[in-house]
Amino acid sequence: MTRKGIKAPADAAERRAAKPVVCYTVDRLPPVDTAFYEGVRQGMTKVDEVIVPPRDGRAFRVPAGHLFRIVSVEGPQVGDLNLWNAADPTERFFSGKTRQLHASHVTTGDRLWSTLPSLRPMATITHDTLAWYGWDADGAGVHDVIGTRCDPYTNRLLSGGDYHHCCHSNLTRAFADGTALPVQEAEMHVHDVLNVFMCTGFTHDTHQYFMKASPVRPGDFLELFAEIDLLGALSACPGGDCSASHSSDAAACHPLLVEIYRPRAEALEGWTPPARNAYPRTHGVG
Ligand SMILES: [Zn+2]
Repeated sequence: MTRKGIKAPADAAERRAAKPVVCYTVDRLPPVDTAFYEGVRQGMTKVDEVIVPPRDGRAFRVPAGHLFRIVSVEGPQVGDLNLWNAADPTERFFSGKTRQLHASHVTTGDRLWSTLPSLRPMATITHDTLAWYGWDADGAGVHDVIGTRCDPYTNRLLSGGDYHHCCHSNLTRAFADGTALPVQEAEMHVHDVLNVFMCTGFTHDTHQYFMKASPVRPGDFLELFAEIDLLGALSACPGGDCSASHSSDAAACHPLLVEIYRPRAEALEGWTPPARNAYPRTHGVG
């Protein structure tokens, strides 16, 4: 067999038969105390909400120990989520490491980890009404940490046009509003996202990233517990349910709702936010 003109060696089958080894021993991660998170959810009070208009973005704040929900309203819609430490936006969501520590798609019990050098849980997923979806026949799942975000630079590269309502731009404007930073400075804080409600995978034959119509319906939600004080931004992707296109005004789009919940005070007794990673940052020098 040849691929791109390269003939396979005689022992190709043997080399391919090497056993996959999961890269990280995730059973050594700090355990998720399911009873604690279930307790926190009981009797919580909604204290705020933010509507994210279609093809736009909004910022929101969640104090440590509170919960937030991203809720589908009106119709199927995917959302691109960014998270920052509210006191220090250089600590932000680390999509790539979250993917390595958990999986390509996240659900209840998984954590959203922050960037180096902090590397600590920023949020823990406490409820996912789409958890039933699992993996479909195309190999797709929901809530991926593999896609980056639709952006006007890639759009210009591929289509030649300028479109100002890609998730990257929506998140940029939302972060600028949330921090009062100029837009081009705000842009530098926007990072790879959690694709909330988006249904994605890699094609079996060419391993290309694909999307398909999201199974989300009004009333579905993803709920997270804020482990530290969070500034969040959510974009209602111009791809709508991402069944056909993005980076244009072609798709039917709907708003998304962000709800903030305060738990009962006694539910948090004994709980403290996780510390930053203890590695001394000497990197073998000195
Ligand atoms: Zn998008």
